[in-house]
Amino acid sequence: MGNGMAGTRLVEQLRALDPSGARVRITVIGDEPHPAYNRVLLSNVLSGGIGPAQTRMRSGGWRPGDGVTVRTGVRATGIDVAARSLTLDGGHPPVEYDELVLTTGSAPNLPRIDGAYRDDGTPARGVTTFRTLDDCAAIAAAAHPGARVVIVGAGLLGLEAARGVLMRGAAVTLVHPQDYPMDRQLDRDGGAVLARIVRGLGAELVVGRRAAEFVRGDDRAGHALLLDDGTRVATDLLILAAGTVPRTELARSAGITAADGIVVDDTLRTSAPHVWAAGDCCEHDGVVYGLVQPAWEQTAVLAARLCGARDTVYSGSTQVTRLKAHDIDLVAMGRVDVGGHDQGHEVLTLADPARGRYAKAVVRAGRLVGALSLGNPGVAGAFTQLFDSNGPVPQDRMSLLIGHAPPGVETAGTDAGPESVVCRCNSVTRGRIAEAWRNGARSDEAVARATRAGTGCGGCRGVVGTLCEGWNMHGQSGIHDSGADRDDRTGAKGDAA
Ligand SMILES: Cc1cc2nc3c(=O)[nH]c(=O)nc-3n(C[C@H](O)[C@H](O)[C@H](O)COP(=O)(O)OP(=O)(O)OC[C@H]3O[C@@H](n4cnc5c(N)ncnc54)[C@H](O)[C@@H]3O)c2cc1C
Repeated sequence: MGNGMAGTRLVEQLRALDPSGARVRITVIGDEPHPAYNRVLLSNVLSGGIGPAQTRMRSGGWRPGDGVTVRTGVRATGIDVAARSLTLDGGHPPVEYDELVLTTGSAPNLPRIDGAYRDDGTPARGVTTFRTLDDCAAIAAAAHPGARVVIVGAGLLGLEAARGVLMRGAAVTLVHPQDYPMDRQLDRDGGAVLARIVRGLGAELVVGRRAAEFVRGDDRAGHALLLDDGTRVATDLLILAAGTVPRTELARSAGITAADGIVVDDTLRTSAPHVWAAGDCCEHDGVVYGLVQPAWEQTAVLAARLCGARDTVYSGSTQVTRLKAHDIDLVAMGRVDVGGHDQGHEVLTLADPARGRYAKAVVRAGRLVGALSLGNPGVAGAFTQLFDSNGPVPQDRMSLLIGHAPPGVETAGTDAGPESVVCRCNSVTRGRIAEAWRNGARSDEAVARATRAGTGCGGCRGVVGTLCEGWNMHGQSGIHDSGADRDDRTGAKGDAA
């Protein structure tokens, strides 16, 4: 239930395990009017890199006849746990279920700003959130050259929205209540470097101030945002990008336990019998992830369970956050807000603020427990691989900060080895991409169709494209002789298609 990224992925994973639908017949209920789309790509839509149609999620090979019914534009309004039935809005008859999966996602957090909302709590005219394709269309319509846009929140979403709006030629002011942008992922020094980059790209960044009141304009005067120190910022559109909250209302109304998110155990079961949850709406072991990779790791476990597996469990995910904004290369993971003298931790930093570069690694007991990299994709790749693999950090710690991965840890770049993960969202290795290339996939799009690489956050598309270009140019010899470029099963070199 919920025709979003987790729900759609679950259908695909179920159909992979049960292709004909003999064991599991599926009904998907989603309240958005569109077929399922990749929400992560909305930032690319906003910046004009791709069109809305390109965000559509692939069906994963199943067809409507395969025991899958998708109903869009329909909202579930209640769950009768005892009768195992779901009530719907719009006079639609209830849907009975054997098992119910809640993938209701999250909703934009709406900060308290006088005048910014209608009586029913939805954003007023001149105000929008940044969560859906419809939000994206509204922002794109308003963000024409010469327009003024104010964004509340300089976290990941706010910065991605700002970059998109700037690329459309509008002026941007970001208002952030903390002292530096992306304060949840960065430390103060990294935040200062990021602030410098954001201002260098042409955005005005106001930190340490809260939005207090939205003053709606009329035919003669535009709108304005009043800040808590009385400053008045003129605007044509106010974008609310102040975080997200899991959508738990349906579960709560049925008496299902929810804390921040809908509480699930290691099997993704909720507190109610025959009701499961995955994705942004759920909370596992006290953590609400709000990211795609954990959502898809959860649905993989869920699909196995729904198809009868008894021993498959979900034990949590690592969290890596990547900012997808043109000209800003930023990746953060784990705990970075650790001081240089915190006991039990080794903290290494390298700062080159004038060139927009900053790297920090937090090491505990010889493992990387947190890191951030700004302005250096090579370092980001080495950090991510080491963090994911939980491998030992090199004796020469500083080598990490300049992008030298320790032996055995491969970066996700084009010079990496076969086992290196290029697409984290879909766990696609370089070796798997080489195999797809040998089977005829000659572009990032063709590789995406064959392997799904690049269909999550899209952060790896450049690497996939570069790999293909290199192999297209140099042929089979361009794939260096590393184990992964052999056929996994036979160990023999594959034939180029
Ligand atoms: C602009 C943007 C950029 C992002 N970038 C990244 C990124 O780079 N990396 C990353 O990992 N994550 C990113 N995210 C977060 C990512 O999109 C979410 O983690 C992901 O969408 C979670 O999938 P989900 O299915 O749980 O929720 P959703 O995709 O939100 O799907 C939930 C669906 O359920 C529907 N629904 C809710 N309640 C009901 C109901 N009662 N009845 C019917 N339907 C209902 C909702 O309308 C929605 O369509 C980004 C999000 C945004 C908005």
